[in-house]
Amino acid sequence: DRQHDAVLAAIRNVAARLAEEKDYLTELDSAIGDADHGTNMNRGFEAVLENIETKQDDDVADIVKDVGMTLISEVGGAAGPLYGGSMLHASEQLEDGLTRESTVAFGEAYLEKLRDRGGASLGDKTMVDAVTPAVHTYKKSIEEDDLPPQEALAKAVDAARRGVEFTVPIRANKGRASYLGWRSVGHRDPGATSTLFMLEALLETAE
Ligand code: ADP
Ligand code: MG
Ligand code: MG
Repeated sequence: DRQHDAVLAAIRNVAARLAEEKDYLTELDSAIGDADHGTNMNRGFEAVLENIETKQDDDVADIVKDVGMTLISEVGGAAGPLYGGSMLHASEQLEDGLTRESTVAFGEAYLEKLRDRGGASLGDKTMVDAVTPAVHTYKKSIEEDDLPPQEALAKAVDAARRGVEFTVPIRANKGRASYLGWRSVGHRDPGATSTLFMLEALLETAE
């Protein structure tokens, strides 16, 4: 059906964007990490693309759950379990398909799991700094401002972009970058940046 096709299109767009940005993400990670974030994410989404070919009959929640499991097993590092585990957990919210309510619930469950697993708070210079404003902005745009989902997603992408910029001047307190202490200041966080690219690809699919 339409939702099934939309989710597959979204996954393909995300995979294509991460393939495009592979070298850039790895370059960001070479400044404050171990220079593998782009290759990690690209390897994960290449496996996801292979797997979804065999999942044509599954519903939306099952597809997203599968993506999560593939990311956990293929991405590795810190980001794999965080991306994969959050997606896997949040996929439960999509059991009745994609609606205004279920997509808000997905975002909230994703953020909750991410914070729970990684133990990072806002301002620790991680992907949490992109996900938090994106989820809060999407929720507010849907629930309070009553915007159409696509406009709400556009606002969320803008919020994530500001979140990524916010990671530049701050010091890392979690993950590999935290080993650098103050020397992590002045660099964009790779995981926050890959989160932004994924959200941008989702928005592109919705448009
Ligand atoms: P690794 O650091 O193991 O090589 P990656 O390079 O793939 O893993 O991913 C690094 C990204 O993971 C960081 O840029 C950061 O956004 C994210 N990250 C690391 N640790 C945490 C954490 N505890 N909580 C949230 N995000 C984290
Ligand atoms: Mg790394
Ligand atoms: Mg690594």
